[in-house]
Amino acid sequence: MTAPLSPDFVNGEVSFWYRSIGVPEPGGPLDGNLEADVAIVGAGYTGLWTAYYLKKAQPSLRIAVLEKEFAGFGASGRNGGWLTGALAGSPERYAKTHGADAVRRLQRAMFAAIDEVIKVAAAEGIDADIVKGGELTVARSAAQAARLHESLAAQRRWGWTEEDVRLLSTGELDSRIRVNGAVAATWTPHCARIQPAKLVRGLAEAVRRLGVEIYERTPVTEIAPGRAVTPRGTVRAGYVLRCTEGFTARIPGYRRAWLPLNSSMIVTEPLPDDVWAEIGWDGQELLGDMAHYYIYAQRTADGRIAFGGRGKPYLYGSRIDARGHTPAWTIGALWELLTAFFPAVARFRVDHAWSGVLGVPRDWCSTVHVDRATGLGWAGGYTGHGVTTSNLAGRTLCDLVLGRETELTGLPWVGRRVRAWEPEPLRWLGVHSMYRLYRLADARESAGLARTSVLAKIADLITGH
Ligand SMILES: Cc1cc2nc3c(=O)[nH]c(=O)nc-3n(C[C@H](O)[C@H](O)[C@H](O)COP(=O)(O)OP(=O)(O)OC[C@H]3O[C@@H](n4cnc5c(N)ncnc54)[C@H](O)[C@@H]3O)c2cc1C
Repeated sequence: MTAPLSPDFVNGEVSFWYRSIGVPEPGGPLDGNLEADVAIVGAGYTGLWTAYYLKKAQPSLRIAVLEKEFAGFGASGRNGGWLTGALAGSPERYAKTHGADAVRRLQRAMFAAIDEVIKVAAAEGIDADIVKGGELTVARSAAQAARLHESLAAQRRWGWTEEDVRLLSTGELDSRIRVNGAVAATWTPHCARIQPAKLVRGLAEAVRRLGVEIYERTPVTEIAPGRAVTPRGTVRAGYVLRCTEGFTARIPGYRRAWLPLNSSMIVTEPLPDDVWAEIGWDGQELLGDMAHYYIYAQRTADGRIAFGGRGKPYLYGSRIDARGHTPAWTIGALWELLTAFFPAVARFRVDHAWSGVLGVPRDWCSTVHVDRATGLGWAGGYTGHGVTTSNLAGRTLCDLVLGRETELTGLPWVGRRVRAWEPEPLRWLGVHSMYRLYRLADARESAGLARTSVLAKIADLITGH
């Protein structure tokens, strides 16, 4: 399907979120060598939260943040704006090493991290259009409904109570958001809508106010114990923390660590009151579904729908198209889904499309780690759930660097070792077959299959999802 584009349509250029507040002019690069206590590579949420908590805990620390483009250039300035309590990874896999109780603690820590972000945003005067309206997950076929029930049963096993997540009747769903073709839904209060670029910009300002220098236009070309090397100078530091998530594969030595998977978004023109009267969505809930080619959506503060999903494919050799240009077929596919969810939107147009990369480890579970012997540390591999997880990561990296043993450093994602992805062409073949199989599986399920298609199970087996 071809999507109707507005006359002001923009493709890429980082994201709509930045277009609405202005793409920043990058600040000055590192120019010469520097001594620091902690060097942080990457100024997205992970790097900035880490700098924030470290500097708050120990104001005398000399912290240098090194950023290739500008603070918030990566996924942190492009995401769907779901400040969600969902775990970044499979509870079963975390439980294998640390047991079920530790996973339940991790889950509670995720819920608490949502409120921590909201609290710090308020304390630092960051207006990021935050509304904690919860998350609605809808099923639009019998197979999706079966998965929704399975997923709810699994959540119960991992400690989600009736207060944490519950089934909605279709009437209750309709009173919140009228989604065409929805046959089942759940709602959890553990999610807040944010404007991603406003949050990351505000966080960068807060970090600078604390006295942390963020060097922009400063690509790190080598990370080694005690040093981060850039074209115009080397930072020597006791701790060097890699906070580059989806971009990690471009750093020498880390090519097969986390696969850079693309996620793509479109945003509509502002929708008039009569359309909102038809759709509802007064509670600003985040909206997702149970398709294999899943979607994620928000009603923006300025009355549009921002709608994202899998789309633009993984690029051979873990390449990254950094400014987020999105192919026409991806825009068309997202538009087709959006108008299937909300037929009333079909007479409007797309104002902006963009893409970004998120980091996917081989076992699809995130990690946070500091090796006190080498001083090297990292956090990431959030598989598309990094908005909240990066806050937990920042606080955990802070404790690990300061050598504190806390509740956070005992959580089961700390210090996990994950094997590398296969070399090419296997990586490319694996991800592309996953996409193809998921698409076929969704089509079969929409055509009436009452259970999860075996094709999706094969896709999960291939990629370890
Ligand atoms: C389209 C999209 C939608 C998403 N939606 C959601 C969502 O709704 N909810 C959710 O929880 N998660 C979502 N995610 C994932 C989430 O945005 C990320 O997990 C999170 O922002 C990661 O933050 P980060 O700081 O670790 O990485 P990033 O924000 O990607 O920051 C990494 C930074 O490192 C810099 N960098 C890279 N290489 C170098 C280098 N060599 N030297 C110096 N600097 C370097 C980059 O320029 C970048 O600024 C989405 C992601 C995308 C792409």
